[in-house]
Amino acid sequence: LSTDSDVVKREAESMSRRTLRANAEKFEFQAEVSRLMDIIINSLYSNKDIFLRELISNASDALDKIRFLRSLTRKFWVKVTIPSSRFRLNWTKKRKYFLSVIEVGMTKEDLIKNLGTIAKSGTSAFVEKMQTSGDLNLIGQFGVGFYSVYLVADYVEVISKHNEQTVCFLNLILWYVWESKADGAFAISEDKWNEPLGRGTEIRLHLRDEAQEYLDEFKLKELVKKYSEFINFPIYLWASKE
Ligand code: ADP
Ligand code: MG
Repeated sequence: LSTDSDVVKREAESMSRRTLRANAEKFEFQAEVSRLMDIIINSLYSNKDIFLRELISNASDALDKIRFLRSLTRKFWVKVTIPSSRFRLNWTKKRKYFLSVIEVGMTKEDLIKNLGTIAKSGTSAFVEKMQTSGDLNLIGQFGVGFYSVYLVADYVEVISKHNEQTVCFLNLILWYVWESKADGAFAISEDKWNEPLGRGTEIRLHLRDEAQEYLDEFKLKELVKKYSEFINFPIYLWASKE
């Protein structure tokens, strides 16, 4: 169990983080994914707001999935008490931004596959489109919406704990951290310092200097409202006082 002071320490550690964890295992992005990220990083596209739409949509998809899985696993002998489904969006004034989906976690393999090494069929189609006259706004339709976080962030961490690992092996709970500065590579490591959630996925955006406007409470509320119109789960916004 973590105490309040642990949480404070962890947040401080995370807040000051600017570089990848030293002990991490390095992976190269699949070539098309890497090209896609270059395009996003260097894009002059002005509607950067869409990153939030993509994160909210992924969170909602993840919760839909767990709802479905839960109906299949009803006969398991392990009785799990699951809190009501929700997203939580935290932001702090220090260049940081967290979007958490409580409940839905990824395994180490999921992180490697879903966020970097398996290019979906839409990846090259999207890259091709963007090189002619494509609209970045369509990114979600090509199945690569996650990478739009690099419109506003220069360093992103995805911290995840998979549901099964939590349920079955209480002594073997592992958090995995995916992190990348969008420079062709990403890294995966275990992390015992970052346990903000019981299980689930937390996406930490380290905002670029020119994207600091997304720390504005009013702006953030407006955007969340706008992009949650068709989302069936409640979204909680947490502000940290500083
Ligand atoms: P898409 O949503 O079209 O599958 P994305 O690029 O938006 O493509 O996301 C890639 C994958 O990463 C998702 O399919 C999902 O497996 C995983 N993922 C992204 N965000 C989350 C999240 N919040 N919780 C769990 N899995 C996620
Ligand atoms: Mg998506």
